[in-house]
Amino acid sequence: MTKHIFVTGGVVSSLGKGLTASSLGRLLKCRGLKVRMQKLDPYLNVDPGTMNPFEHGEVFVTEDGGETDLDLGHYERFTNVALDRASNATTGSIYSTVIAKERRGDYLGSTVQVIPHITDEIKERISSITGDDVDVLITEVGGTVGDIEILPFLEAIRQFRLDVGRDNVCLVHVTLVPYMGPSAEQKTKPTQHSVTELRSRGLSPDVIVCRSENALDAKVKAKISNLCDVSIEGVVNAVDASNLYEIPLNMHNEGLDSVVCDVLRIDRQANEIDLTHWKQLVQRVSNLGRSVKVGIIGKYINLPDAYLSVAESLRHGGYENNVAIDLQWISSEDITPETVGRLLDPLDAVVLPGGFGNRGVEGKVIAADYTRANEIPTLGICLGLQVMTIAYARNVAGMQDADSREFDPKSKHLVIDLMDAQRNVVELGGTMRLGAYDAVLAAGSKVREIYGTDKVSERHRHRYEFSPLFRERLEAAGLVCSGTSPDGELVEFVEVANHPYWIGTQAHPEFKSRPDHAHPLFAGLIEAAAARNEGRNPRVFIDADERRSIAL
Ligand code: GLN
Repeated sequence: MTKHIFVTGGVVSSLGKGLTASSLGRLLKCRGLKVRMQKLDPYLNVDPGTMNPFEHGEVFVTEDGGETDLDLGHYERFTNVALDRASNATTGSIYSTVIAKERRGDYLGSTVQVIPHITDEIKERISSITGDDVDVLITEVGGTVGDIEILPFLEAIRQFRLDVGRDNVCLVHVTLVPYMGPSAEQKTKPTQHSVTELRSRGLSPDVIVCRSENALDAKVKAKISNLCDVSIEGVVNAVDASNLYEIPLNMHNEGLDSVVCDVLRIDRQANEIDLTHWKQLVQRVSNLGRSVKVGIIGKYINLPDAYLSVAESLRHGGYENNVAIDLQWISSEDITPETVGRLLDPLDAVVLPGGFGNRGVEGKVIAADYTRANEIPTLGICLGLQVMTIAYARNVAGMQDADSREFDPKSKHLVIDLMDAQRNVVELGGTMRLGAYDAVLAAGSKVREIYGTDKVSERHRHRYEFSPLFRERLEAAGLVCSGTSPDGELVEFVEVANHPYWIGTQAHPEFKSRPDHAHPLFAGLIEAAAARNEGRNPRVFIDADERRSIAL
């Protein structure tokens, strides 16, 4: 039977609940348990797919095309378990289901209410993930205890615990213990209040994870234990970590996985922890060599969370190549023909990340052309491939007005277009290509060498495609379409010959990179960056085994 852990947060938002949940997931996995993770989000959007990155940060895409909360990215990176759309449920999606059932008459005329209908649907979403292949399901509840919109979730968890039995549920509450300078004290009152709030909803935490700047005093821990009615082992300190991937080790040293196992009646002896592999990773992360400068050229650079998986993937590429990543956030709106050299010359590599809408696109096109002409290693992701193609069409293939239908539908050279536009249907709604798609890689291409295989699968999230109408002309001008859909119709990768690294992918490889196994496209980019930094030629990998031998 699946055991359940619910992670709630109190006192303030942005406490790092997602990282706590992910770290716990990794620790339980290191105990040999089969772990799954889920996020419940109390907002009304049906999914984060339509939300502005400024509001919500990155949209994380799952294999099955779910557009989900960015915490799922942490879950996948820490536990290395691929999740799916069911792993993220919002209030909006829960209400949609309930209202659709009401319209169908499924409730047989009864009054439809938050309790029991919404709470039942929440319980259903939790149960839907359980099964023989899941020993432990960790469910994180977004928002903060005390928010109005979180109440149905807390009530559902209370009922769920009664349904499945107390020994099968562990409640972990994450709070903040602030330090007050003038009195030189760590304050427990906010934690007490937030636990009181939780208890008023019928939920007493089994474990309190206290975030703090510096290690908690033993006396402070004892006070929290006493006043919040939690065992002393149940008070776990999460001190600010210098690197994300150290958090599981810190949490283990604080006894988090042990106390959770005890609450859930999981035999600790029979499930002894093996942290060897994770310790190797942290060892590597803490001892990186020289640093390389990588520019992310985007339009949401004031909110780095908008590019969370890209930034993490670059770091993974750094771990694999034993270099630290000095990330430079560059606003694409600042890039003009006059500024491009000054902004990009100091960089060892450039990433052109995904994006939607007109703002900042011209700067990206200028950047793509500059890095091609000046041999600066560049990885273009989704919109990145599209601007690389536009730049090549304009500057090399002689199509001065080349563009994407998204930005200038009147252009005579729509090298990036809606697939259906060639059939004269131009519609926006529901036409995104989402989730995992296969691609085949051309013999002799750079991507084939980097991936070390000729068939790959990557996650997608876009509406526009490389137009087949201009493929021949662009190829004749030297653009290499190095990967396509298996039927050869859709261009999935572009590159140019005689360049250390100038690769565009229509997919989002950042969703599949892991700290202990960098995605090849990022590992390859960082290798090219290190080569540029050291003034040598990039390494050429003979085959996949050779490339993999440098991963952990
Ligand atoms: N806006 C582009 C499209 O819809 C690219 C999307 C992206 O970068 N994710 O095709």
